[in-house]
Order: sequence, then C-alpha cells, then structure tokens
Amino acid sequence: MPQQTAPSSDAPRYVVGVDLGGTNIVVGVMPEDGSREIAMRSQPTRADLGADVVVDRICQMVEDAITIARAETGATREQFVGVGVGAPGPLDRGRGVVLIAPNLGWRDLPLRALIMDRVGLAATLDNDANCATLGEWWTGAARGARNVVGITIGTGIGGGLILDGRLYHGSSDMAGEIGHMTIDSNGRRCNCGNYGCLEAYASGPAIAERAREAINADEPSVLSSLVGGKLERITAQTVYEASEKGDPLAREVVRDTARFLGAGIANLLNTFNPDCVVIAGGVTQAGDALFEPLNAEVRRRAFRPVVEACRIVPGILPGSAGVVGAVATFLQQNQ
Ligand SMILES: [Zn+2]
Repeated sequence: MPQQTAPSSDAPRYVVGVDLGGTNIVVGVMPEDGSREIAMRSQPTRADLGADVVVDRICQMVEDAITIARAETGATREQFVGVGVGAPGPLDRGRGVVLIAPNLGWRDLPLRALIMDRVGLAATLDNDANCATLGEWWTGAARGARNVVGITIGTGIGGGLILDGRLYHGSSDMAGEIGHMTIDSNGRRCNCGNYGCLEAYASGPAIAERAREAINADEPSVLSSLVGGKLERITAQTVYEASEKGDPLAREVVRDTARFLGAGIANLLNTFNPDCVVIAGGVTQAGDALFEPLNAEVRRRAFRPVVEACRIVPGILPGSAGVVGAVATFLQQNQ
C-alpha cells in the first residue's frame, strides 16, 4: 500500500467519471491527460429501488474505482481531485440538481451535493448526452475537432454541442436536444408530446416500430421468422441483422432511418457548420448500409462548403464515452 503523502507538483491528478443511465451505472477513473481508462465498471441502476439506493451504489462504485485505481497506479488518495457525473436531464448544473428524470423517477434530486458529501471530493454534474459527446471529442472519434455535434441513438436520441472546444449549454442548460428537432411538421407523435420529432423516426424503438408497420402492410420479410412470428419482439437490433442478411424490407427501414437522420444532420450542419458529427449507439452497427445513404442525404440538403468541412463518423468509445466525458466536464469546469 503506497504511503499517504501529499502529491508532488508533478504527480498526475485523477478524476472519477460516473455515467448514470436508466439501465446501467458506469464508473471509471482517468488521469487528467486522458491517456487511459482505469477501473471501468458497470452495474445495473435498479432505479425501482429508489433514489437513496441508487445514490448509495454510485458512491460505493466511486470508492471501489478509487481503490482499484490506486492499486494499479500507486497514486495517493490526494491525487484524486474530483468526480464528474453525467446524468439524464433536464438538470440545473449551477445547483447540481437533476430536475426531472422520468426513467429514474427522480424530481429535484441534489445529486452533486449527495455525492460530494459522501465521497468527500469536489463534483460536477452535466447532461449524459453532453458527456458522451465530450468523451468522443476528448479521446474518441471526434478528437482534434473544434466544433462537434454529437448524436447518441438508443431508446431516445440525445445530443451534445461542442463549440470552439467547449460544451455549449444554452441559456437554461437545455441545448443539444437534437432528438426533438421537428423533421416533419405533421409527422409521428413523439414521447415529448410534439409531432414529427427526429426521435419519433430514428430512435431504436421507432426503427422497430416502422419495421412492424411495414410487415403489417404485408411486405414480405425474414424479420417475422427471426422473431418466431412475434412481431412485438422486433428490435432495432433485429432490423440491422435482417438488413445485413439482405432482407429488402429491413434494408428499406435502415435506408429510411438514414434519410431521417440525414435530414436532421443537414439542419445541424447548416446551423452550426461543425467539422465533425459523431454518431453513437446501436444504429452504427448497420455500418455502410446506414452511413452511405446518410451521407448522400446530407449532401443533398446542406450547403456544399458546410458538407465539405465536416466528417460524419461513428463513435469509437461504446460503453465508456459517458464516463470519459464526465471526467472531461469536471476538468473543463475546474481548470
Ligand atoms: Zn420530441
């Protein structure tokens, strides 16, 4: 066990990152230069057990991560300077409060203070999709870019904006809600109550729903046999698998997904003129079947100099982008 001595001025500082999701909590440690991920661990969130239990588990995971990282690096406890937390929004970053998190059943939970009190370290709180974007920018696929749009596609569609190398939060910490941009003013109803949001077309559940609708319209597909005739079992994942097998219906669903995403991304390109768009989530498994028609749609809709300035890439930090970005947000706010 290393001695408990004050770190010398050149001793590396370490930050713990927490990515709190509706399904899993992921925790890990990184040195401030971002050179490696240490002690990355995931546990089920179990939001049904209540906020106290979830906060307990987060704090225990933070302590465990510090213990493992100290054993691996020989660092002292004093070299751990803080905890960056990414959580579902909307949030009040200034007060460190989760305002509303439907998937967790939380309202007005002072998450940052609860973690600081228990762990005894400084902490920051930011939106999970912002963190995922910042993670891909710091050590992932958007590295080296100045202006980045991050899109995370899962149960919903989250987004983050990095402008001139810093997260852009907007006037009330709500910037980057890319999933709720309207792409069809008379379109499908979204979970947010609006009609025609991108999320209502291109989220995982929306992709599965569009496939079910096409099958119900009597279009032939191997999809129904893939799920044993139980159409409710179709997920975005099964659609990608069927598409890879060459199933025409699944391919059409993936192509349509690419068109919807391409329309949304063209709006973002014309608005922000980014040098990188990074797309994360299961949908990137569709590979070229997604990215080729997506790029074509963006080229059709956005201004040419804007398209030429931008690369559209899949994320390369599945599972850890949120933790990496949570560490990065702590460092950006504590420079
Ligand atoms: Zn919406």
